[in-house]
Amino acid sequence: AGLGRLAAAVLAQARDAVVDHERELGRLDAIAGDGDHGVGMRRGVDAAVAAAGEAVGAGLSVHRVLTAAGEAWSERAGGTSGALWGSALAAAGRALGNQDSYSGGDAAAAVTAFADAVTTLGKADVGDKTMVDALLPFRNAFVAAFDGGTPVTGALASAVTAARQAADATASLRPLKGRARPLAEKSLGHPDPGAVSFALIATRVSDYFE
Ligand code: ADP
Ligand code: MG
Ligand code: MG
Repeated sequence: AGLGRLAAAVLAQARDAVVDHERELGRLDAIAGDGDHGVGMRRGVDAAVAAAGEAVGAGLSVHRVLTAAGEAWSERAGGTSGALWGSALAAAGRALGNQDSYSGGDAAAAVTAFADAVTTLGKADVGDKTMVDALLPFRNAFVAAFDGGTPVTGALASAVTAARQAADATASLRPLKGRARPLAEKSLGHPDPGAVSFALIATRVSDYFE
């Protein structure tokens, strides 16, 4: 149950990041979207933390903890990002299975599974101005650092740097997917809310591992 407990602690970090930036994320989504990204992420991550806590209390594996968290997130958040975060968490849980500790390779597999779930469900490419624009650079940097022999903490720090730069860089893009697409011109000059929230969460989680 040790790894399930760690997963629940990581989700609590994600919640803190969302709580701190809830209003900013809502304002960002209101520029060209429907303004609910802050409240949606908040509802989702709160539900995920609660579900993970229950699963940890029941002594369940990391797979079961993250599946319960992902289902709760999708269900309670509604919206596009909720469905994506929910399926991504469940996929990361499947990658970790019922192990009780993890290696760098396991962490890389979980990050890869998380990213694959988002692209499989959302079908966005890099450049479409979505969370994928931060997530794929994060995954690539993490896997490259790990393959180069960097331990998990260092790999996470490089991945976060990549994600933050990439999220900022979405400001110059026009949205080609999601609700912001019809108001693409308004979105120019502002970063994508989902890319920003991903980078904020990744930053908080990385700080936790340091
Ligand atoms: P909704 O758009 O349903 O109101 P949110 O506001 O919570 O949901 O989330 C919006 C974010 O979802 C966008 O900023 C973008 O990052 C992300 N998003 C939208 N469509 C996709 C997609 N097809 N693939 C990946 N991410 C997407
Ligand atoms: Mg929205
Ligand atoms: Mg919405």
